[in-house]
Parts: sequence; C-alpha cells; structure tokens
Amino acid sequence: MPFIITDPCIETKDTACVDVCPVDCIHPRKDEAEFAQATMLYIHPEECIDCGACVPACPVAAIYESIDATPENQKDLVEANAVYRLGDPDAMAKAEETVRAHIAAQPTLMAIPATERQAAHATH
Ligand code: SF4
Ligand code: SF4
Repeated sequence: MPFIITDPCIETKDTACVDVCPVDCIHPRKDEAEFAQATMLYIHPEECIDCGACVPACPVAAIYESIDATPENQKDLVEANAVYRLGDPDAMAKAEETVRAHIAAQPTLMAIPATERQAAHATH
C-alpha cells in the first residue's frame, strides 16, 4: 500500500522527501521542468516500496503511511497521488485539478500554516 502526500505539501514542496526516497518515486523533482507548475509533490503508488524514509524527512508531516491512514479530509489527494504521471500532461492536469478542488473545499484547513496543518487533519 503506497504512502500518500497530503495538503501540508501544497506550496511547501521543499523536496526533502525526494532526497531520501531510494526508488525516486516522488515527483516532480526540483530538476524536472514540471516542478515550477506543480502545486505539490506526488508519490507514484506502484513504484513506492513502503520503506517509510520520506515520513520523518518531511518538515510539515504531509506524508501518511497508507490510504487507510490518510484522514477523511485528505482522501481526495489519494487520487491525486494515484493519477499524477510525470510527462503525461493529461494526468498531471488531472492531479492538479484535484488539488485545486481540495484547496477550494477546505478553506479553513488551508488557512492554517502548513507546519500546523497536519495536526488539524484529525479535527477538521
Ligand atoms: S515510502 Fe519510501 S519508497 Fe515510498 S515514497 Fe516514501 S521514501 Fe519513497
Ligand atoms: S518533504 Fe513534505 S513538504 Fe517537502 S516536498 Fe516532500 S511531502 Fe512535500
């Protein structure tokens, strides 16, 4: 079961997780052209080997260890992680559309600073 990046990554996207991932399954990387346009980063669900290295690396605790562990108010972003494919414009657009819909649907959560947002996942 893949790890899932959620909304504290939105506009944080510092790529600390990319640096520790042993299988390069988190995209886009800073050296990829798609990075500037991406609102957040995504984990490829079939390439992730569930090693857990990315979780402690994330400064805003954006990464959950499974779909089941992902809070209800972040479940839409499971799909965003699942569909994003680097280099596939339609897939990237679909993932970003899901993220924009998430931002629009969660104004209270998104108003919380990224560093404190994960703690609020359980209560919003
Ligand atoms: S759990 Fe491991 S393989 Fe999966 S995204 Fe994180 S660092 Fe990469
Ligand atoms: S370390 Fe966290 S905030 Fe940074 S890019 Fe990865 S998931 Fe996003």
